[in-house]
Amino acid sequence: MSQLEEILEYNQKFVEEKAYVPYEAGGRPAKKMTIVTCMDCRLVELLPKALNIKNGDAVMVKCAGGMVEGSYGSTMKSILVSLYELGSEAVYVIGHTGCGMHGLEAEKMIQDMKDRGVGEEVFTALESDGIDLNMWLGGFQSVEAQVQKSVSIIKNHPLLPEGTPVYGLVIDPKTGALKPVN
Ligand SMILES: [Zn+2]
Repeated sequence: MSQLEEILEYNQKFVEEKAYVPYEAGGRPAKKMTIVTCMDCRLVELLPKALNIKNGDAVMVKCAGGMVEGSYGSTMKSILVSLYELGSEAVYVIGHTGCGMHGLEAEKMIQDMKDRGVGEEVFTALESDGIDLNMWLGGFQSVEAQVQKSVSIIKNHPLLPEGTPVYGLVIDPKTGALKPVN
């Protein structure tokens, strides 16, 4: 049985047995909070549990490193939608120790792409389109500094509702311990 078939089989039972009932919630975050964090698989259950967040409590925006890159990228757009359209009133940027984006070298990933069959001509074409892969794929050197940078982009955004608190934190992906970043 393929993974997809297993998922679909499980899912059918899940719905039939009404296993969804404990997770029923409205579409607006009950705790009026937006969390921006990393896609790291260790945080899938641990982060909500460690913050006492239940289904329906918070809007969760996830991406590699939980990095807010640029004022008009998809992460920033999600934050604004959450604040204006979903009733969120605060933003929490939560980086984590041991992040895959920490020290990520774009050069290695580009080499991996080449090793897996992406042709030289693709890189040449991207370069002539003005796409800087080294910049785009690069990670960060300090999780605290990256959180501060993301917080600063959000706080200084011209479209941020006035008075919105924006907090920076780092979570331990093993224990769930949180440390505020100032
Ligand atoms: Zn991460």
